[in-house]
Amino acid sequence: MNTSISKTANKIIAMIENDGPVTLERYMQLCVDAYYGGSEPFGRSGDYITAPEVSQMFGEAIGVWMATAWQMLGSPKKCNLVELGPGRGTLMADILRTVKILPGLTETLQLHLVETSYKLRDMQKQKLEEFGVTVCFHDSFASIPANPSLFVANEFFDALPIRQLIKTGDVWRERMIGFENGELAFAAGDIVEPPEWAGDGNDGDIIEVSPARQRAASMIAEHVAANGGAGLIIDYGHEKSVAGDTFQAVSKHKFVDVLQMPGSCDVTAHVDFEQLGKDLVAGGAEIHGPKSQGEFLIAMGLREREAMLKKKAPARVRINLSRQAARLVSDKQMGLLFKVLAVTSHGLGKPHPFGDPNA
Ligand code: SAH
Repeated sequence: MNTSISKTANKIIAMIENDGPVTLERYMQLCVDAYYGGSEPFGRSGDYITAPEVSQMFGEAIGVWMATAWQMLGSPKKCNLVELGPGRGTLMADILRTVKILPGLTETLQLHLVETSYKLRDMQKQKLEEFGVTVCFHDSFASIPANPSLFVANEFFDALPIRQLIKTGDVWRERMIGFENGELAFAAGDIVEPPEWAGDGNDGDIIEVSPARQRAASMIAEHVAANGGAGLIIDYGHEKSVAGDTFQAVSKHKFVDVLQMPGSCDVTAHVDFEQLGKDLVAGGAEIHGPKSQGEFLIAMGLREREAMLKKKAPARVRINLSRQAARLVSDKQMGLLFKVLAVTSHGLGKPHPFGDPNA
């Protein structure tokens, strides 16, 4: 392992040498900040590809959902359209293109992007210029103006730092990262209190909790509760809180050691949808789902859209469309691992497709 390759690695090593091991949470935060503040991470030539970059059909399905949600909110005259962690801006561009189908909607929208990377802010601004809407940037949901909001967060929560707790003997300890024999290495830190769901656990078990995700969920829920709103949180993760180490790093579309190249690869952790749901409800919002991404997209008409796009397309493009659709919905690809959770203010009812199909 060559830890001297990146500025971030040097910075982390210096921190450890001065003050001792850092928490995994701090390590992940430093990696994410350096990564998104640096080179362009997305797309085929980058490190990984997200659903909106796979196909326009993804953003179109979200756009259709947003249009219906706007009507559920009572077609407000002033409505925030918020995206958390917009990446290249592709999803928002597809949403804005799609919501035009509903007359009167676009004119009511004020665009707000929650994005900490200044590099990506520039890219998002350029991408969305053609829609003629003013883009406001925010560091968090806390500064979003007090109007009803439609919001979406795709692969945002997985990038927010987690803490790991490791069972060592009879106690749980904070998982730390130290520097030993010239290498970054995991270490066990202070004894800490586990969440209730952790149970007794076995020696070596790892559980994950995330104060940063909890803060983000609370801000969203409180805003929605106070001003009205509806949105979708889409991410990879599990429906129930369970033990397991999901901290991962991806470089050039392959998994790599999480300690190998801090700041130069994408580090994330799976989202615990049970905990996320609890935090949203505690903040005053209603939740619906989660549903698997495949189920959600098909219920939103992805297959019909695929057939429509194929009608005018040459054979090569038709094959591509089939591949893209399969990538988004099939159980073996993104369809099952990715989940969609809907969040609404109280009293709106269940948004499609989260209601009971037989009701
Ligand atoms: N939603 C996009 C990109 C996901 S990558 C897509 O689907 O393609 C994660 C995004 O979240 C990046 O834009 C990154 O800069 C942003 N991000 C990471 N941590 C953040 C934080 N704490 N606050 C706001 N944005 C953050």
